[in-house]
Amino acid sequence: MKIHEYQAKEIFRKHQIPVPRGKIAHSVEEACEAAGKLKVYPVVVKAQIHAGGRGKGGGVKIAHSEDEVLSHAKDIMGKPLVTPQTGPQGRTVRKVLVEQGLDIKKEMYLSIVPDRETAKIVIIASLAGGMDIEEVAEHSPEKIIKTYINPLIGIQPFHCRKIAYKLRLPVPHIRDFMKLLVKLYSLFVKYDCSLLEINPLVITEDKNLLALDAKIEIDDNALYRHKDIMEYRDAEEEDPLEVEASKHNLNYINLDGNVGNMVNGAGLAMATMDLIKSSGAEPANFLDVGGGASSEMVENGFRIILNDDNVKGILINIFGGILRCDVLAEGVVQAAKKTGINVPVVVRLEGTNVEQGRQILADSGLNLMTATNLDDAARKIAEIASS
Ligand code: GDP
Ligand code: MG
Repeated sequence: MKIHEYQAKEIFRKHQIPVPRGKIAHSVEEACEAAGKLKVYPVVVKAQIHAGGRGKGGGVKIAHSEDEVLSHAKDIMGKPLVTPQTGPQGRTVRKVLVEQGLDIKKEMYLSIVPDRETAKIVIIASLAGGMDIEEVAEHSPEKIIKTYINPLIGIQPFHCRKIAYKLRLPVPHIRDFMKLLVKLYSLFVKYDCSLLEINPLVITEDKNLLALDAKIEIDDNALYRHKDIMEYRDAEEEDPLEVEASKHNLNYINLDGNVGNMVNGAGLAMATMDLIKSSGAEPANFLDVGGGASSEMVENGFRIILNDDNVKGILINIFGGILRCDVLAEGVVQAAKKTGINVPVVVRLEGTNVEQGRQILADSGLNLMTATNLDDAARKIAEIASS
């Protein structure tokens, strides 16, 4: 799960990781009020969306007066912000963070992520922090410092010193940096993070070390033990169909294609998506209704796919094991009756109670196409989607 910058900074503050003073605002008026309360100029008006690259997209603006706060907030608030990470449609800005503006001397990059290959935690740092870190990583990878930490032993002072020296930190900042890094590492472990990133980590002209930006992503599988993080969930930043699916415990991910698919089992779902693609179409979603799905779950899953406007055809691919084919068929019929089927549906069923399942579908009066096997199913649906 992603959280906003202002929420990540709240967590940083609680863990004594220095961040600039700032206030969150939900409207243009609140942004002006927030600037007034900070009692300093310049201030920075920062769009809060679940995507990076805001600086490049015009979502981070410096204001030297109340008038400028007003005009920047008006420019940003309520409008879609397009950044290199949002896709061309952008994301609507509903909140801005108003922060004290700082005089920056040096921008560095610092992040912590799990490294699957080595089964360690890796700290990534760079002298070349700021908005072009992606280009630095691509064109000058030697400027990226990676330090692998054995999670059983944890971070040690020598790790911190080594990184500090490689960052060529001036001596007076080394101690502060070491403290910050140890706190950041323990925060990463404590919250089961999948990403913790400060870009840029800055040294100001008045010689302070601060996190100017903050990004935290938490492993969804660990969310149940972080109730405080769950409070930070912003459903408006998530895909509405995915939010709906998560309410019904469905593993659903919305994609760009036009062939919807409903499958049981993550592996079979991946294989089905591959098959759709190799037949020349693009999957509109990933949906694993799960091995032990009830007919209600099937109904909800099918309804969610039907509600996706991009979907031009649906492929149902079920291997009846624990989820019996008759249960699946009941769910499909219920959803179709409630929502109405507005696109062609191809069904491929095999396994437990397959005869009953086919009978239920045949008796339903719904216009469903049955496929003899998986290849046949994929070919049929791809033809429909392209016509
Ligand atoms: P991002 O583009 O979404 O990662 O947003 P950031 O929070 O990293 O801001 C982008 C850039 O804006 C930073 O790299 C800084 O160069 C600049 N910036 C942000 N806050 C300040 C500030 O207080 N003072 C100055 N001078 N620049 C700032
Ligand atoms: Mg940044």
